[in-house]
Amino acid sequence: MPRDNFSRRTITLLAERVGFLCSNPACGCHTVGPNRQAEKSTRIGKAAHITAAASGGPRFDVELTAGARAGITNGIWLCSNCADQIDKDVQAYSASLLHTWKANAELKMSQSIKAVYETNAGEPAHGPYLEADLVWRRSARMPGEFSDKNPGQLENGVYVVDVSGKPIIHWTLGWEMSLVIHNNSSYAAFNVSVELDTGGIETVERSTLPKVNHIQPFGQVKMTIKYMEKMESSHVEADERLARRIPDAFDNMVFKIYYFDEARKRHRTLARVAGQQILNDKA
Ligand SMILES: [Zn+2]
Repeated sequence: MPRDNFSRRTITLLAERVGFLCSNPACGCHTVGPNRQAEKSTRIGKAAHITAAASGGPRFDVELTAGARAGITNGIWLCSNCADQIDKDVQAYSASLLHTWKANAELKMSQSIKAVYETNAGEPAHGPYLEADLVWRRSARMPGEFSDKNPGQLENGVYVVDVSGKPIIHWTLGWEMSLVIHNNSSYAAFNVSVELDTGGIETVERSTLPKVNHIQPFGQVKMTIKYMEKMESSHVEADERLARRIPDAFDNMVFKIYYFDEARKRHRTLARVAGQQILNDKA
């Protein structure tokens, strides 16, 4: 049975489409670099077959024509280690998993060259670019009264609460976070101000930025954000809620960051909390 090998052109295309990085998301290593001999480069990458090039090989698909077997759709760029690994354990590395790796690696590379292009092409016109990050600093629970939801009984006319086990307590939960504003550009940002749209939550406290301020290129400023929440529960549930570094109540909260460039043109970044992360959108 003949092997349906990839053409040179297919091999080059597979490598280039992922920037010569291994497509295994757990690896992602470089597969090309300099050789000690000045006139040579070292390649450790392989164009691996998603379904085998010959009958009896890993994930061989009898349905494919010879052309499809040697076609670019059936190839994935991997480092030599990962290429060996996927062929030794075909149960763990199915064809559909490898297609997913390939699609994600190509998407990632496409986004990263787009970002380089946009930064290089667009920066002079766009000026400074601020992005915010919400960083957990500490959180704690402060106990209050026992809840009357605890079981109990009357003893000599006094209701005695049974607090063995996991008693239900009125807790105050508190978080302290830093809103770190990064200037991810080579342009200074002037008169930075932050407006907080809490969506009606009143127990958010924030420190203020100096009235006149600027963030130098690739510099940062920090603001402290404190938040309190009341709950009635056992300490176990309270700790579960505290385990979240960004409190649930912050979901969809928006930090509007305003700033000016050197030409006094105003810019704005909307930083929105989405679960345990913060997404930045420059307007
Ligand atoms: Zn690899």
